[in-house]
Amino acid sequence: MRNRRRFLQMLSSLPFLGGLSSYVLPQSRGSRDLLAELGVPTIINAAGTYTMFTATLMWPEVVRAIEATSRSFVRLEELHDAVGKRIASLLGSEAAMVTSGAAGALTVGTAACMTGTDKDRILRIPDTTGMKNEVIIQKSHRFPYDHAVRNCGVRLIEVETREELESAINDRTALLLFLNKAENAGQIKMKEWIEVGRRYSIPTFNDAAADVPPVENLTRYVAMGFDLVTFSGGKGIRGPQSAGLLLGRQDLIEAARLNTLPHSDTLGRGLKVNKEEMVGMLVALECYLEHDHEADWRSWQGWAEKIATAARSIDGVEAEVFVPEIANAVPHVRVKWDSNRIPETPFQIAGRLREGEPSIEVVPQGERADHLQISTWTLQPAEVEIVARRLREVLAY
Ligand SMILES: *Cc1c(COP(=O)(O)O)cnc(C)c1O
Repeated sequence: MRNRRRFLQMLSSLPFLGGLSSYVLPQSRGSRDLLAELGVPTIINAAGTYTMFTATLMWPEVVRAIEATSRSFVRLEELHDAVGKRIASLLGSEAAMVTSGAAGALTVGTAACMTGTDKDRILRIPDTTGMKNEVIIQKSHRFPYDHAVRNCGVRLIEVETREELESAINDRTALLLFLNKAENAGQIKMKEWIEVGRRYSIPTFNDAAADVPPVENLTRYVAMGFDLVTFSGGKGIRGPQSAGLLLGRQDLIEAARLNTLPHSDTLGRGLKVNKEEMVGMLVALECYLEHDHEADWRSWQGWAEKIATAARSIDGVEAEVFVPEIANAVPHVRVKWDSNRIPETPFQIAGRLREGEPSIEVVPQGERADHLQISTWTLQPAEVEIVARRLREVLAY
């Protein structure tokens, strides 16, 4: 207590921290409500596993594993080996590692394809002198997260047809990058993509970050023959939001590990994963694999129907339940309305849900959207009724 008082006196004696003199440190550390203390409101996340809304809620088992692991020191490389081995055997992959999210996996996975285990190259990258520095991707597969690949100093080469793909391949080709959710958008399907990679001995990498459920996808793409595959830890798997999985070939995972911590002079040193995320990611995966996915589905479907029914109760409003085909493949609700009856745009209605109490986030975040979209898998049971009621209120306004 004495020390605390002295600390506060010290703070208030610093002129630039004058405003802090009235700040009182919370007393009961055990039961602090930090969000209230910080004045940060909690929200109902009816948008989905968006990073800006903190994406997912971890399984309680994950939180307990993080807490338990936080009490000891270990040699990080030994833990990284052991967790990687366990994850690889759970998913039938040759090797695996925990990364700082799927975006981190894209960076260290690409680096691995460029440097291998060559020490000089690992030190030199993102200067790509003397390395393969082109990554081929289908034009329709370009996506915001390909920046995580470009971080390695590579150029993305866009192709559309099989013919263009084969003629784009040359001595500088490091990787053939595939975006799983764009399977139907591109002319070259994943089977053919893998086949071409094999024929020219160039690694193929599938980004399936948001593509569980279904749970089978966790083993599917490695089994099909992709050399590298990534999933987010903090989306469907409900692990730490700052973790992800990189699965695939032993030699590439080994090279990816050499391009990140604990090695200081590496491209991926900033993509830090400590023991808590490693163990948390493993436990999340175990929980997810054992989970009753059908029960989840029934709940989500019921919630979606309930919200859609509430929306439809307003004159001029149409609502349908749908499941996106690949990424985020869980029940969603799409809400549209006759703009003659309800003059507000989806963006404005989303704004009113945000400004209400409690604050609710939905899609869109963009001004030009022509409908409102609500996701179910980030809702908690008690929130479903609230979302249904608020939606009715703002549409009937
Ligand atoms: C979410 C997402 C990422 C990024 O995943 P993090 O785990 O948040 O790093 C990368 N690629 C795709 C396709 C995604 O949907």
